[in-house]
Amino acid sequence: MVNIYFMHGVVENFKKECFLHRDLNDKKLFEKYLKSRHSKFIDIETALNDNNGDVLTIDDATIASYEAALIANELGHKTTLFVNADNVLNNKTYFFCKLNNILERTISEYITFNGNKYPLKTFVQKKEFRKDFKQYFRTLSNIQDVEKLVDCLSIELLKENNINPYYLNSLSKNDIFDLIKQGVRIENHGFSHLEISSLNEDQFFNHITVCHDWLNKEFNLSSSIYAVPFGETIPKYEIADIKLILLASDVIKQGFFVSSKLYNRIELKF
Ligand SMILES: [Zn+2]
Repeated sequence: MVNIYFMHGVVENFKKECFLHRDLNDKKLFEKYLKSRHSKFIDIETALNDNNGDVLTIDDATIASYEAALIANELGHKTTLFVNADNVLNNKTYFFCKLNNILERTISEYITFNGNKYPLKTFVQKKEFRKDFKQYFRTLSNIQDVEKLVDCLSIELLKENNINPYYLNSLSKNDIFDLIKQGVRIENHGFSHLEISSLNEDQFFNHITVCHDWLNKEFNLSSSIYAVPFGETIPKYEIADIKLILLASDVIKQGFFVSSKLYNRIELKF
């Protein structure tokens, strides 16, 4: 049986109610967990070929994900990292990392967005706003529009520049080369981290192929696995050359092949 897990990287002194640590895991606990596992995580292709084994995937090209991959690698575990070409190629911080930074650091007590006034005094209130804001940006089909939206929010909610902590910065091409050298598998997370349900067929096709071709041209990789950004939407269109599509949805059973080419990953918890 194949079990494919997902995570987004590690941070030191992880705090649950910190937007900067959203979706991340504690670095020390991750090390401890990896050391205590009875079996090693193995390469995804090997597991699929043998129809057996536990696999660890890490999403997004951030320093936090890079650090998780290196820790796992040092402890003898194989990992697969899903990267977005746009963030690496253009040295762009992920817009949701910027959003998290804004929410963590703002001292504004409220925000008006789409005609609604949201209080921002507590973690829970900020989370409520984040949910609606996210729902809105997920309808946009152009990455520049999403980034503009987040930049406007930054101007409104932060007095100073929106500077992220280092672990939320994007990876460089050299970082990716380094990971490949260490034995980390790099695969396709799409050109940018747009929600795919907002893309038409051409846009979706571009989203996949631009990242695929970039991995091929820059790193001489022939990627055949794709992880859906945000992990929730089943692609509507057939994609040639992709032999496995990975979700990370909490509304579908986790650890389950939805079809022969589509698998819903298991959130790594420890
Ligand atoms: Zn992602």
